[in-house]
Amino acid sequence: MLELKGLRKSFGDIKAVDNFHLSVDNGEFFVLLGPTGAGKTTTLRMTVGLEDPDEGDIFYDNNKITELPPAVRNFAFMFESHNLYPVLNVYDNLAFPLRSPLFKTPEGEIKKRVEKVANDLHMTHLLKRKVSNLSGGEQQRVALGRTLVRKPNIYVLDEPISSLDYKLREELQTEFKRIHEEYGITIFSATHDNVSAMAMATRIGIMYEGRLLQTGPPREIYTHPVSMTVANIIGAPSMNFVDCVIDNHDHLYFTSDPTLFLPVSPETVRKVKSQQKKETNHLFIGVWPEDVGVVEDEKTGFFPCQVDTIEYHGAEKFVNFTFQNSSIKALISHGSQVKHGDAIFIFFPEDKLYYFDPESEERIG
Ligand code: ATP
Repeated sequence: MLELKGLRKSFGDIKAVDNFHLSVDNGEFFVLLGPTGAGKTTTLRMTVGLEDPDEGDIFYDNNKITELPPAVRNFAFMFESHNLYPVLNVYDNLAFPLRSPLFKTPEGEIKKRVEKVANDLHMTHLLKRKVSNLSGGEQQRVALGRTLVRKPNIYVLDEPISSLDYKLREELQTEFKRIHEEYGITIFSATHDNVSAMAMATRIGIMYEGRLLQTGPPREIYTHPVSMTVANIIGAPSMNFVDCVIDNHDHLYFTSDPTLFLPVSPETVRKVKSQQKKETNHLFIGVWPEDVGVVEDEKTGFFPCQVDTIEYHGAEKFVNFTFQNSSIKALISHGSQVKHGDAIFIFFPEDKLYYFDPESEERIG
């Protein structure tokens, strides 16, 4: 088990990593997910020993390894700068770590491992090519292969597939999952790409401004985000938020239009109120784009809106519009013919709503 205990790292005034605690169990595929600058790379670099923490310690199988040099930790790592050897061919690049004085593997065994990894990553045809003649995506696959050829305690991978084109990324996502399950290896990875994190991870850690905000299986974080920041980071597309107020009769209305009430029962509103940490009648409601009800004909209880744009995310089709000063995105059926300027009618189902504190932006309840 890998344990990061209270890690802190600053660069001048920038707190890159702040009071970071995490345990990664053997066999997990743990992905740190966060926007650029969140501190993911710095956390991984401290884990493998390329960066010294200002505070905190790192343990592997209960042994403190904070001060051990990278080679002795036996963690294979891959960072965004691939550090491949451009003059060597792909085979020799893949074989390189196994030929190092530390691992001294017999050539027969090297051949077996290099060929297996090349096959797993669909790059057998590249083995004789010089790395300097490969495309960026091919080089990334070689870098990944060079990491996988070893049998370390943990694979530490920073953005392992993010610079690949969409199709290859999808293919490698599946491949990665298969390799993880088949080999039973431990992977500690980082990315800003929520789609690949959701697809590959057994557990995700949401990182923002140097802090770890929430950890859990992908679906659990999606259905139970602890804050608006987490919901924004995990969602692709993000959650919709609308500013609301609770009136004296425990009804919920939109802040920008006190005549428009949400179809939420006073019982639910009272429950939300009782769970608020600070007494206030103001809150944000959140709803995932796939949970917003959308119809094209007027319907009782539905709010009228006007279509702004239509957008495709892979196989899904979304409509964008403004509602009560908020930009809202909603999933619509493929058959829908709505276009810019058309009227649509929307509904927020009570059982799909999330409630957030307007100050702390934490989820209520
Ligand atoms: P990205 O997804 O863009 O790689 P990240 O989440 O990996 O981002 P880090 O690279 O860990 O984030 O950086 C965290 C913060 O620390 C950023 O503000 C970055 O500019 C800063 N930082 C990282 N390394 C250094 C360094 N060597 N010197 C100065 N500042 C640094």
